[in-house]
Amino acid sequence: MSVIFADTRTPESVDTSDNQLALAAGGILTIDLGALRANYKHVADAITPTRTAAVVKADAYGLGADKVAPQFYAAGCRDFFVAHLGEALNLHPHIGKDATIYILNGLQPQTEQLCAGHNIVPVLNSLEQLSNWAALANSQNRKLPALLQLDTGMSRLGLSEQELQTLVADLSLLDGVDVKFIISHLAAGDNVQSPQNKAQLERMQAALKLLPHHAVAFSNSGGTFMERSYHYDLARPGIALYGGAPQENLPNPMRPVVSLQARVIQCRTVPAKTLVGYGGSYETQAETRVATIAVGYADGWLRHLSNKGCAYYGDVRLPIIGRVSMDSITLDVSALPEGTLKLGSLVELIGPHQTLEQVAQDAGTIAYEVLTSLGNRYHRIYINDILA
Ligand SMILES: *Cc1c(COP(=O)(O)O)cnc(C)c1O
Repeated sequence: MSVIFADTRTPESVDTSDNQLALAAGGILTIDLGALRANYKHVADAITPTRTAAVVKADAYGLGADKVAPQFYAAGCRDFFVAHLGEALNLHPHIGKDATIYILNGLQPQTEQLCAGHNIVPVLNSLEQLSNWAALANSQNRKLPALLQLDTGMSRLGLSEQELQTLVADLSLLDGVDVKFIISHLAAGDNVQSPQNKAQLERMQAALKLLPHHAVAFSNSGGTFMERSYHYDLARPGIALYGGAPQENLPNPMRPVVSLQARVIQCRTVPAKTLVGYGGSYETQAETRVATIAVGYADGWLRHLSNKGCAYYGDVRLPIIGRVSMDSITLDVSALPEGTLKLGSLVELIGPHQTLEQVAQDAGTIAYEVLTSLGNRYHRIYINDILA
């Protein structure tokens, strides 16, 4: 049995305003909703007449689907992709009724009614899922909308070549299902050079010839920056909308959406040959000024960044020394004049001096993982909210 205590600890005179919460937080995550809308428009304009959806799975790549999706809606987006039915149900109240929500991961058995009852559109990834969806439609004597995914070479989700042949041999399997789009997903969309893109496109083209005509959704962010033949009728960008680079090894044309600052919680000067952090993985070479900041791996500053990567104060680079802890990181701040950083000072983790992509590279990962790992301990500030 759990006990709930009445909150007698917060007298009304205590200031719990945003400003106080920002001062108390270990980090401040600023999300530029204007940049999000601009990025959506940038992609949408570049590929018209292809329609542009927004992928808002994983809580809009960690940035808050309830805040982010309405901005895409305001920018003209009417198609929203999530991964799970639960995400779709949560998203529903935050976007207009004329928008459609699609579930990329398909449906678990016995969740078809819940999905259909909320007018959410599943991606059918197998003949089994198709059969379950068609059965519900036929039991209700109506057609139910769905997307049908084909596996064109990623071996992750979608009808296999063999399942496609089964379907082509008996198109009555589609009875009761209103196929809004046939979709597939690029495995190497972030690399224009990869021959896998062309191979997937050719498999898609061949498959489409076998099926009755339907609209097609094919491209993720990377695909929208490839030639027109990849665009089809509906595109599904995610990372580019959030400021990530759609193509690796090419300049990033997107506007940065996220900036992150961390609070200094202690400073000290230690002599040469002093060990820093868990496991003593760093030993100072000379007298070193160390600042500890209140962000750690529980805030998505991946432990892989131990003794790698940095923060900035103004233009000054402050290397991470020692292991990243759960709630804190130690920085070598010797490059700054003594006393520059004090309790409560802010340093930059993502911003004008250090892009999201640079952090991802230092951490040996991709911007997607950095964003979706950010967690919920930061004080979040949403700026340029067109709906406020
Ligand atoms: C995540 C995802 C997307 C969006 O991909 P980005 O690379 O973020 O643009 C599109 N389609 C599918 C099927 C996905 O899983």
